[in-house]
Amino acid sequence: MAGRKISPAEPVTELRRIPIRENGEPLVDFLELCPELRLDRPRFTYRRETVMRKEVAERLCRANEALMRNGLRIQVIEGWRAPLIQRRMYGAVWKQFKDLYPDRTDASLTRIVNRYSAPMNLRVPPPHTTGGAMDVTLTDLKGRPLDVHSPFDWLDPRGFAFDAEGISDRARKNRDLLREAMTGAGLTNYPSEYWHWSYGDQGWAYRGGHPFALYGAIEPPGWTPDPKDVTDEPLEFVSDL
Ligand SMILES: [Zn+2]
Repeated sequence: MAGRKISPAEPVTELRRIPIRENGEPLVDFLELCPELRLDRPRFTYRRETVMRKEVAERLCRANEALMRNGLRIQVIEGWRAPLIQRRMYGAVWKQFKDLYPDRTDASLTRIVNRYSAPMNLRVPPPHTTGGAMDVTLTDLKGRPLDVHSPFDWLDPRGFAFDAEGISDRARKNRDLLREAMTGAGLTNYPSEYWHWSYGDQGWAYRGGHPFALYGAIEPPGWTPDPKDVTDEPLEFVSDL
């Protein structure tokens, strides 16, 4: 990959042109709304929340119902994410790519990192901070993980794009089943990450040609972070997935 030009799939310069008409929809606990959903193992060490916008959770629930009729089930890695955590996750992804490409300049690294993690930006709130985005994986009905990225390791960027070349036939089939169910429920995929789906945020508006987004950044009423999470240090990846 070294030397290849990498630019964001959905540039901030495009997303910032999309106005946000915040519709005030609340965040709800998606596991309470849809008990058939499961929570996947955390990818980082911090206290996760299990909320997203109500309409988004309802659509996810419909996608899961469709998949369960075919013997599959959705596991959510994360929906809404606090800006504090978003900043620290950006730092973690920066470190990950700095290790992969130690010779790149900061400007070049920024272009790569911004493809996989959103920097804090008031005009373009990172998708997870709006409650409109989610990261998901697939399991069978008993909760056994299904292949969505072999032969690549889950941290290998070669497997990240939805249409990544070189993934196994099994992984391709499972991704296609996920896409069918999610798009059927009105959720759209960020093409650089097979696991990232959204509704109502600026990315969704950009992909679908909608004139405005429905959701800006939000926090659950009265929410406070876990005091252990309040630091500027990059998050740590969970290594034993
Ligand atoms: Zn995501």
